[in-house]
Amino acid sequence: MKKKEEGRYVREPGFKNLSAAERREMERYAKDYMDFLGKAKTERRAYAESVALIEAKGFRPLESFKRLKPGDKVYRGYHGKTLLAAVVGRAPIEKGVNVVGGHTDAPRIDLKPVPVAEKGGFAYFDTHYYGGIKKYQWVVRPLALYGVVCKKDGKTVEVAIGDKAGDPVFMITDILPHLGQEQAKKPLSKGIEGEDLDLLIGSEPNAKAEEKAKDKVKDNILAILKAQYGIDEEDFTSAELEIVPAGTPREVGFDRSMIAGYGHDDRVCAYAGLKALMSLDGIPERTAVVVMCDKEEIGSVGATGMDSTFFENSIAEIASRCVGAAYNDIVTRRVLEASRMISADVTAASDPIYPEADPKGNSAIMNAGACINKYTGSGGKSGASDARAEFLAQLRATFAKHSVAWQIGELGKVDHGGGGTIAKFMARYGMDVVDMGTALLNMHAPWEIASKFDCYMTWRAYRAFLIG
Ligand code: MN
Ligand code: MN
Repeated sequence: MKKKEEGRYVREPGFKNLSAAERREMERYAKDYMDFLGKAKTERRAYAESVALIEAKGFRPLESFKRLKPGDKVYRGYHGKTLLAAVVGRAPIEKGVNVVGGHTDAPRIDLKPVPVAEKGGFAYFDTHYYGGIKKYQWVVRPLALYGVVCKKDGKTVEVAIGDKAGDPVFMITDILPHLGQEQAKKPLSKGIEGEDLDLLIGSEPNAKAEEKAKDKVKDNILAILKAQYGIDEEDFTSAELEIVPAGTPREVGFDRSMIAGYGHDDRVCAYAGLKALMSLDGIPERTAVVVMCDKEEIGSVGATGMDSTFFENSIAEIASRCVGAAYNDIVTRRVLEASRMISADVTAASDPIYPEADPKGNSAIMNAGACINKYTGSGGKSGASDARAEFLAQLRATFAKHSVAWQIGELGKVDHGGGGTIAKFMARYGMDVVDMGTALLNMHAPWEIASKFDCYMTWRAYRAFLIG
C-alpha cells in the first residue's frame, strides 16, 4: 500500500495504492470469502463452516485444555450458533484481550411453529420474518430452505433445500401489474404485508386421498415430507427453519470489483475477523479473540445473542486456564475492563441513486476501505456506544503502522439514520469498543453488495488490530 498523505481528511477509492501482490491477495481473499458466504446461509451453517476452518488451522475446543499458555489456539461454541475463538497472547491475561466481534445471523424469513397450510389449491409455509427487511424484496425470487427439525426421540433432521443442483426452490408470489392496481396505490411499505409472506411449496393434490377429503395438496406435501425427511406436521413445533435467497455469491460488474451475496451483513465482517485470527503470524502480545454471534438482527437478545453471558463466561473459562490456582472472579472483571474491541459490523455505503439519504461528507463510500462508525444510535445518538477519542487515536496509529485503508462515517443523516450493533453490550464491561466494518450497497436486501477492496481491507484492519 502506498502511504496516504498526512493531514487532510480524504475519502477515496484505494485501488491505485495496491501493489500487484496485494491485488492478487485481494482476489484470493474475495474468492475464499465468496466460497464461505455461499455455504454459510444461516447462523448454524456459518458456525459449522467456521469451526471446520479453524480446526484445520489447529484450534481446539477450550474444554480440552486444563491450562493455557501463550500461542495456544482455542474455541468455544454455544448451541451450534455462537462461536468464540482465541489465540493466547504473551501478556498476562489481566492486561486485557483484543476482541473482534461480528454476527452471523442475517435478515430472513422464518417458518411459524405450525407452518403448513392450504389455500385455494396451493400448499404454503406460513412465516414470520426475522430482522429488518423490506418485505416487497422477498417476493418473486427463488428461495431456499435451511435449518433443523428436532424430533422428540432426540434425532435432528438437517434441512438444506434449494442450493444444490437439481433441488427445487420455493417462492412467494406477487400479483401481475394488470391486476395489481389496488396494491399499486399503497405506499411501498404496505404493498406486501408480513402476514402475506406465504411460501409456495406445492400444488398437486394427494391422489390417494378420498374424493371429499379437505386440503389434499397439504396432505400430499405432508406425505412427501414424511417419506423424504421422516418429518410429521407436529415435528415443526420443535424446528428452526429459515427461508433465505437461493443461489451463491456472484461477482458484480464488467470489472468484477464487487460481490453480490446474501448475508454480507454481517458474515463479511465475521469472516474477516475469523480470517484475521487464523492469519496471525506467531504469538500476539495480547490474547486475540474473535466472536461470531447470533441474534444481532433482533437486538442481540436470547442465549446466543451478545446480551447473554456467553462472552463473559468464555473469558472466565480462558482466564481461569491462564491463571490457574490463583484465579478468582476479579480476574475476569479485570480482563473485561482492560479489553479493547472492534464491533465488527457493516455500514451503509453512499448510494448516488439515493442522495437524499446521504449525510454529505460523513457517509462511507465504497472502495475507500473498512469504515469506522464512532457511534451509532438514532435521534441524538440515543442508544449508541460512542467510542472515546483516545481509543480512536490508538486505532489510527495501528492502521497507519499496518498500511490499512480505512474511513470514518455515520449511518444516515441526523434524525434519519441510525441503528444498533453489539457494541453497547460489550461496552457494558467498561472496555473500549468501536464499530468498524465493510460498507454495503443494498444493506438488508436479499442480495447485498460489497466491494472486494473493502472486504480485503476489513480483514487487514482486524488483523492489524489483533496484532496491535
Ligand atoms: Mn449487522
Ligand atoms: Mn443488520
